[in-house]
Amino acid sequence: MGQVDCVVIAGAGIGGLCAALALAKQGIQVTVCEQAASLGEVGAGLQISPNAMRVLRELGLESELSQFVFKPQYAAIRDYKTGEYYLKLPLGKQAEARYGASYWHLHRADLHQVLAEACAQVGVKMVLNATVAGYRENTELKQVYLLLEDGREFSADLLIGADGIRSKVREQMLGQERPTFMGQVAWRGVIPVSDLTVDVKPDACVWAGPGRHFVTYYLRGGDYVNFVAVEERSDWRSESWREEGDVDELKHVFADWHPEVRELIKAANSTFLWALNGRDELPTWHKGRVVLLGDACHPMLPFMAQGAAMAIEDGYVLAKCLSNYALGDALLKYEQSRKPRATKIQQMSKANVGLYHMHGGVLGKMKLKALQAAGRFVPDVIQSKLDFVYGHDVTKN
Ligand SMILES: Cc1cc2nc3c(=O)[nH]c(=O)nc-3n(C[C@H](O)[C@H](O)[C@H](O)COP(=O)(O)OP(=O)(O)OC[C@H]3O[C@@H](n4cnc5c(N)ncnc54)[C@H](O)[C@@H]3O)c2cc1C
Repeated sequence: MGQVDCVVIAGAGIGGLCAALALAKQGIQVTVCEQAASLGEVGAGLQISPNAMRVLRELGLESELSQFVFKPQYAAIRDYKTGEYYLKLPLGKQAEARYGASYWHLHRADLHQVLAEACAQVGVKMVLNATVAGYRENTELKQVYLLLEDGREFSADLLIGADGIRSKVREQMLGQERPTFMGQVAWRGVIPVSDLTVDVKPDACVWAGPGRHFVTYYLRGGDYVNFVAVEERSDWRSESWREEGDVDELKHVFADWHPEVRELIKAANSTFLWALNGRDELPTWHKGRVVLLGDACHPMLPFMAQGAAMAIEDGYVLAKCLSNYALGDALLKYEQSRKPRATKIQQMSKANVGLYHMHGGVLGKMKLKALQAAGRFVPDVIQSKLDFVYGHDVTKN
């Protein structure tokens, strides 16, 4: 039914590679243009929830990835000072039973490498040192041309902009508009467990505190602990949105926190500091023979750990729509099925700022106490709120 034989993708991030793999498995000829000189991802962890896991399983990657994972026992929210649990939701076997797929922690580099190898096996053509400058369309020839900065062009039936939050493809489609600084910065780091003097719980844990939160979870079978330390800031002055972080500053910002957090930071030799940016909902995700996915169209605060999960779902759904419908209808169906969900999760992620950062002083603390009571007495109510996120199955819909 589909009428697309050849696709060019801008960006070899997790979203671009998932789309490439799903399309190539359908027999579509795929070329991916990536600006970097070599394939890879940032040295940090990623939480992969059951909704994304189901896609990775459907793409045939579950067993290859399983050698790299850590399976957390609980999703926890703890008090920044006392360590008291405000939430302790079972993940592990209970998540598997509820959602039919696991909750995994993966090193980004491992996921990226497995995806890249799978793409190579099904004949995806990878072009590195390929910085996208824009595109042009020829409606008569029914072709779109991806234009690189060095003058090269790649023609295809469809162009997918998977080039992240500063997407050049989005810019040409919808106009130049810088992403918005969300008033948050994040330090990220990965620490070998052998360097730690504290026993970190095997959970996906958010330590909630005033104006800040701290996330910890294990990677690579428990050999490493990943941390993300978030602080509210009124501005971000640097031109770059990522810079080397100052470990002493990080220690200072979390100096009065629980010993588990402080000891963990003490073991960090280096860290990167990121400005967290976002965008409002875009008016559309597609135009002519061009379509967007992942952070290119719905960047979100990482406070639900769903940005990459949404990019993975996007790639799979887009490929499925292209196999079931003619191009125009396929892009329409793709946007109709993905935009409301991604937008809702963008909003849910933003709403977590207040909860994690105890906004409202005493009121903020009371909200966490209410969550604690609900988790104790009506845990299914809390769990069912997450069903919208984790229970969604794009491989079945
Ligand atoms: C601190 C933090 C923690 C997070 N934790 C999680 C988590 O636990 N779980 C989760 O699901 N998500 C998480 N996310 C979100 C997740 O990282 C992103 O949503 C996801 O990586 C987006 O993937 P993408 O492929 O759409 O874009 P990107 O990963 O940004 O990939 C875009 C690719 O395009 C390339 N590119 C860009 N411009 C050009 C150009 N002009 N020409 C050619 N190539 C180009 C880039 O080099 C890159 O390879 C987190 C984010 C942050 C900041």
